[in-house]
Amino acid sequence: MAIIEELGDGIEDWQVGDRVGVPWLYRACGSCDHCTRKDENLCDQAQFTGFHVDGGYAEFMVADARYVLPLPDELLDEEVAPLLCAGIIGYRSLHKSDVQPGERLGLVGFGASAHIAIQLAHFWGCEVYVFTRSESHRQLAKDLGAVWVGGSEDQAPEALDRAILFAPVGDLVPVMLEKIRPGGTLAINAIHLSPIPEMEYRLIYGERTLRSVANATYQDGVEFLRLANEIQVKVTTRKYALEEANQALNDLKNSRIDGAGVLLP
Ligand SMILES: [Zn+2]
Repeated sequence: MAIIEELGDGIEDWQVGDRVGVPWLYRACGSCDHCTRKDENLCDQAQFTGFHVDGGYAEFMVADARYVLPLPDELLDEEVAPLLCAGIIGYRSLHKSDVQPGERLGLVGFGASAHIAIQLAHFWGCEVYVFTRSESHRQLAKDLGAVWVGGSEDQAPEALDRAILFAPVGDLVPVMLEKIRPGGTLAINAIHLSPIPEMEYRLIYGERTLRSVANATYQDGVEFLRLANEIQVKVTTRKYALEEANQALNDLKNSRIDGAGVLLP
């Protein structure tokens, strides 16, 4: 999140002093077939913050005015930061899971993204089942209203309508498909996934859908931030000084962060 300090030539939609967020999607080409279809998350020329472009770990950065997001005033900086990446991608994953109000939703892995997604799912009246190994993540899931928590090896008490795989583990694809009803959906929220093992056709027979989720669009960001503000999403954070970035990454890798880690420059 950032305050605009200076504007480039010809920028009219923003003013110095505006509070804005720079999401994972830094910019897209705007003219390819995907962009024309408003699927700029799939653009071959898309650039991502902290990957193609510096700025994620900095006090000042240059952003593309067309892709920065307006931020609600009510939320603190450290609460807004996790919304801009974990939150937006969780929102898109919920949509790509086809989840409908009142359905049974499984969340596999319970990090920053899932701990926000569960709150949106509850707002839509869904029952949420959380599969994670970490005891403290299970506790956080219970505190956030999960109806059931367990491990991926456990059978949930009911068949799931939808599930979202947040853990980048291909072995869990057949494991989770086994828990999903005919006609249900498994969405994979991972940029990289270990190989999906060979599996029996019966696991997707019955018109089950298996789908990946790739990045997010600008419109996802606009819609999600509006919703997060409306339903008062509560973000659990662990704060680190900018100099502790390596420690934060290590803690993230080892599932030692409950909710989201936030760097404070
Ligand atoms: Zn494009």
